Amino acid sequence: MSDATETHCPYCALQCGMGLRPADGPVPVTVVERPAFPVNQGALCGKGASAAAVLAPGARLTSPLVRVDGELRPASWPQALDRIAAGLAGTAERYGRDAVGVFGGGGLTNEKAYALGKFARVVLGTSAIDYNGRFCMSSAAAGGIRAFGVDRGLPFPVADIPRAGCVILVGGNPAETMPPFVRYLRELKENGGRLIVVDPRRTRTAELADLHLAPRPGTDLALALGMLHLVVADGRTDEEFIAQRTTGWPETRDAAMAHWPEHVEAVTGVPLPQLREAVRLFCGAPTGMVLTARGPEQQAKGTDTVSAWINLCLATGNAGRPYAGYGCLTGQGNGQGGREHGQKADQLPGYRKLDDPAARAHVAAVWGVDPDSLPGPGRSAYELLESLGGEVRALLLMGSNPVVSAPSSTRIAERLGSLDFLAVSDVVLSETAELADVVLPVTQWAEETGTMTNLEGRVVLRRKAVDPPEGVRSDLEVLRALAERLGRPEGFPTEPEEVFEELRRASAGGAADYAGISYPRIAAEDGVFWPCPEPDHPGTPRLFLDRFATPDGRARFTAVQHRPAAEEPDTDYPLRLTTGRVLAQYQSGAQTRRVEALNQAAPGAFVELHPVLAERLGVREGDRVAVVSRRGRTVTPARLTAAIRPDTVFMPFHWPGEANANRHTNPALDPVSRMPEFKACAVRVEAAD
Ligand code: SF4
Repeated sequence: MSDATETHCPYCALQCGMGLRPADGPVPVTVVERPAFPVNQGALCGKGASAAAVLAPGARLTSPLVRVDGELRPASWPQALDRIAAGLAGTAERYGRDAVGVFGGGGLTNEKAYALGKFARVVLGTSAIDYNGRFCMSSAAAGGIRAFGVDRGLPFPVADIPRAGCVILVGGNPAETMPPFVRYLRELKENGGRLIVVDPRRTRTAELADLHLAPRPGTDLALALGMLHLVVADGRTDEEFIAQRTTGWPETRDAAMAHWPEHVEAVTGVPLPQLREAVRLFCGAPTGMVLTARGPEQQAKGTDTVSAWINLCLATGNAGRPYAGYGCLTGQGNGQGGREHGQKADQLPGYRKLDDPAARAHVAAVWGVDPDSLPGPGRSAYELLESLGGEVRALLLMGSNPVVSAPSSTRIAERLGSLDFLAVSDVVLSETAELADVVLPVTQWAEETGTMTNLEGRVVLRRKAVDPPEGVRSDLEVLRALAERLGRPEGFPTEPEEVFEELRRASAGGAADYAGISYPRIAAEDGVFWPCPEPDHPGTPRLFLDRFATPDGRARFTAVQHRPAAEEPDTDYPLRLTTGRVLAQYQSGAQTRRVEALNQAAPGAFVELHPVLAERLGVREGDRVAVVSRRGRTVTPARLTAAIRPDTVFMPFHWPGEANANRHTNPALDPVSRMPEFKACAVRVEAAD
């Protein structure tokens, strides 16, 4: 490890530590273990272990591309940057500043996310900015803020999980999405703790559980209400905790008591004895945790669903004390930090609100601008994409691939195609970059330094291990060059540490306060947990032990009601489709589909059907079948498994074209978080022509 650069995986929110050793050949580094990093202790999944393959020049972009006569052709950096500056400035001149949009990504470092938000507000003066992290954990963020006054994925380190008495994992499959995390679930069981997994599929994670509940997609809210009903009916509430540390219990209790367990059984499909057993395990343990992931969150009622699970924690006294509480397993590499530093439509750095005059004044002072010059909150991610070609006519997109990852993806590809001008900055020629007028090839994880904030709120340091190929520049250099061309050259440094120093000042005093965090500290301490307001502050691995981050220090119950999915099955579309990930691919697959080893393991899409459903449809293993929804049609091989409910089908969403699961997903939005309903829509399955 001595000659290896200590850094982190480019993919998911666990941000596993890894080492990179120089290597000969087209792939310039070899990934090695970094056993001293506490989160993964050397373990990596196949995605992380093979990540270096995308560094090879043959796997990625090495020259800017500019569209000429309908074709993307290699161009010089000045030509490409001039064209982007002209496209953005011309659109603003013709249609106004809000006609220029910016779309970021949850994989960008904190420094890039910060600089991108500043670029949008200060250089472009547009309110039209959001990012793909909105599609990831925005419902958990909204539910967390509603209850606790602050949103941090986990309010405790992952190492606390094995010390809980019982963990309920709702709608997450870390055995495939972040395998090194599974050791914490195994340790939980070795310590005598209980694991309950809630998932419509009997996933590899569900196989580990003491109890697996398999509700119909879109009914987790009813399940949580049913459990709370039983907790109250059985007299298992923690009245002392409720009285001393919460508000809003009577309304929440009344709402739960209206959800009779028999009704919950009918709505969810979970047998009543299993519901009772879940309550018995959870309430019988000394402490309990509820961890949610995309299953309950990616719904048009995702925020209320998260609130329902938080209510269960609060009613049983499982919050604000060690080895207990609610947490969200964030998804993208910097899904957490990406939403703290200003690329979200309604936020400024430090998790400040853009419509808060004091927040605007603080950040404007750091940026050296008049607070009144800052635009107000803009549209959420899907609404921004939906407005393309209409109110928004030019778009700068960084590190995102919505043609594959956005809901109702065919529609979104059309909207992108209707723009007057599209510029994409990315490592590879993604399906979205293929539609662009200009594509900029940028550096990736091993070629640049920057910070990421993992699912625990631990700020970690990604270190540069190798020079990028000739022709490739960093996103920070891109923003600086564009700012110069657009007449605002000052305030856009290209050194990541310089950007971070400014980010510290901009975040000071905010909910996500990084003021006391520095590169040397992160390096010395294996990461620092925010909030960390002063250089001599130890950081905050565990939140809420003394008080919650609400004005009165109490956690807030929210009374919520179950409601059906926005699109329920009917005669024409009698099945529920739910979507997710597989072990060997990551998100839209833009990077992982370029890695041979991963493609061999997971070469393409499929649709999972229960054998009973398959027999009724006359489908055999491997048959190519069409999945049809109100929004599109896909054709994939059928995969038969008894691990899924007979009324539900599953598709992974990593592949483009006729196999793209997001052709079907429903853009019905949560009223609070503006999260689309990825996890439940109505489809039929039929023979492919
Ligand atoms: Fe990378 Fe996540 Fe795999 Fe760790 S679990 S190696 S962070 S993809």
